[in-house]
Amino acid sequence: MTGFRSGGYNGSMPPAASPPLSVTFLGTGTSTGVPMIGCSCAVCTSSDPRNKRMRVSVVVRTANQRGGEPQNLLVDTTPELRIQMLREGLDRVEAILMTHGHADHIFGLDDVRQINFRHNIVMPIYGSEATLAQLRRVFDYVFKETPTGGGKPQLDLRTLEPFEPALMPTGAEVMPLPVLHGTLPIYGYKFGRSLAYLTDVSAIPDETLPYLEGLDTLILGAVRFEPHPTHFNLEQALAAIAKLQPRRAFLTHLSHHFDHATVNATLPPSVRLAYDGLTIAVPENHG
Ligand SMILES: [Zn+2]
Ligand SMILES: [Zn+2]
Ligand SMILES: [Zn+2]
Repeated sequence: MTGFRSGGYNGSMPPAASPPLSVTFLGTGTSTGVPMIGCSCAVCTSSDPRNKRMRVSVVVRTANQRGGEPQNLLVDTTPELRIQMLREGLDRVEAILMTHGHADHIFGLDDVRQINFRHNIVMPIYGSEATLAQLRRVFDYVFKETPTGGGKPQLDLRTLEPFEPALMPTGAEVMPLPVLHGTLPIYGYKFGRSLAYLTDVSAIPDETLPYLEGLDTLILGAVRFEPHPTHFNLEQALAAIAKLQPRRAFLTHLSHHFDHATVNATLPPSVRLAYDGLTIAVPENHG
């Protein structure tokens, strides 16, 4: 892929200190959420709570090495961020990683104000240069000198270079992994050596593939059964999983075409549909 350069990191290097992680799915839905406005299909009207999907996000927790509360790293700020944090009893996050600048991934950014106020912290926001530029455009009032009545989120934008590992304030080591979302290059993220999270992906470039081998847990987007111009469909996601051979995989960014129980029953045992509120533990330094 053009536009990305490889960092000096060698995928076979011994890992940096990588604490055990847990992941909570704050949302597992595609950009419309499920149920969709106005839709009366069997999934949108289902009583199975696993068919209720907010916009896609996870929080990746590390045990606090100094004792005390776990440290929370949020991936993306969805339009439901407030509701997701209330539901999970999340009071603060230490930092936020952005995958890309689409509305379903960033439109809850203003809710960071409450974390700023309560904990007196400026929120580190990590992403590619292009994604951070998008944030500056979409949330221009935040970055202007002019005051606003309601207060602005206090954000510290920090650029991540592709394939260059960065130590997060939570103690997790994160590597940005370029993937293609249609023609748009975006970031997936690898956490330590065990876990990777790729939400909106229609192709995984050859340069990225080696970093996705030997994972314990791969979280991967799969939007529907039919092909889609900017997302893997189920068949493509399963093919990528078969190629990469993680110990297990969870599918996310799911549309109303997927009834949780029906689709799960058709999947290989090591592959599951994720659902909102699911928490998984990921072992330290797998592989
Ligand atoms: Zn999306
Ligand atoms: Zn529906
Ligand atoms: Zn997107």
